[in-house]
Amino acid sequence: NARLADLHPVKSDSLLALIAKANADTRPEKIDVGVGVYKDSQGRTPVMRSVKAAEKRLWETQRSKSYLGGAGDARMLQLLKPILFGPHAGDERIVGLQTPGGCGALTLGFNLVAKANPKARVLVGTPTWPNHQPIIAGAGLEIVEYPYYDRQERRICFAQMVEAIGAARGGDVVLLHGCCHNPTGADLDEAQWREVVRLLVERQLLPVVDIAYQGLGKGLEEDAFGLRLVIEACDEVVVAQSCDKNFGVYRDRVGALFLKTGTANTSGNAIKHVLQIAREMWSMPPDHGGAVVRTVLDDPELAADWRAEVDEMRARILAIRERLAAAHPKLAFITEQNGMFSMLPVTPQQVDDLRERHAIYMADSGRFNILGMADDEVDRFVAAVVEVIG
Ligand code: PMP
Repeated sequence: NARLADLHPVKSDSLLALIAKANADTRPEKIDVGVGVYKDSQGRTPVMRSVKAAEKRLWETQRSKSYLGGAGDARMLQLLKPILFGPHAGDERIVGLQTPGGCGALTLGFNLVAKANPKARVLVGTPTWPNHQPIIAGAGLEIVEYPYYDRQERRICFAQMVEAIGAARGGDVVLLHGCCHNPTGADLDEAQWREVVRLLVERQLLPVVDIAYQGLGKGLEEDAFGLRLVIEACDEVVVAQSCDKNFGVYRDRVGALFLKTGTANTSGNAIKHVLQIAREMWSMPPDHGGAVVRTVLDDPELAADWRAEVDEMRARILAIRERLAAAHPKLAFITEQNGMFSMLPVTPQQVDDLRERHAIYMADSGRFNILGMADDEVDRFVAAVVEVIG
């Protein structure tokens, strides 16, 4: 008769612990580049213009908050498809449902895999976003790790990735970051995507593509390159998408799970399984954020403004990457990476040093959010990093 009070103590999540520590620091010059949200030139995480406008419109026009059903906002899904899949948007074998964020999509996707093949193993490159492994393990699937990124050499361990995928068994799953790899910022180039896709097909592996930062790397279209290659070549694909970053609606939890199987019929059946799993978990996704995304994308003017806002975010990322790269030869690699994150070539001791002496907060691994600082903080950040790495 276990009691709740007897539960073992939970090891605190190091990233959450970092956020708490940063929040408790009262030094006015504090810079928190640990947490992964967009900050504008003034260091704020604003509601995007297009999102605000859509919310106003929704408030004026929404007549009911009655249940929508387990698949969420069908029109939102329809509008997301061309952004994700481009020329394949009309493929009837691709079906989807709305989820509470990318986390919800990943959770559903891996639980579906476990239903189809409980013995499937999931190949995961390390390092990866720290929530991937708990989600996969939570679905009861076995994880096979391979090294994805060499921190010393500051490049992808592509030979090891190819070797790991080449050694996989038919029916195994390969988790891929669609773009803007978190935490390293190091993405596959076009030739590397082609090679990975060739292996997926040859070994009959199931790709799960996690795409949470579309538009924040090279551009909305460019960032979908790998995903579209996978969709074109592979018979079966799972896609976990998030709008939380590129619409800045983090707390509203907007995402989608898309599946592709061999026929529209089998895809429809797979989605019924997903709906059943979702019903046990959250029944239906929260509506507000999805309705906002749909309202933005359904209006040419708002959609154009949203695209412009995504371009502004990306331009800010690129500008800060260039300033870091120009500041020290050891940081030159930063311009070759994509998205909100990069890993500084620092030891945990140097990370401590940045925190204690410069009030700069980042994960022990040196992962930092490029957008974690306001414009007038960039100089100080760059100077502190250059001083610490010597
Ligand atoms: N995948 C990756 C790689 C992420 O970094 C994140 C969020 N940090 C997600 C998925 C999930 O995002 P959310 O659930 O907030 O939409």
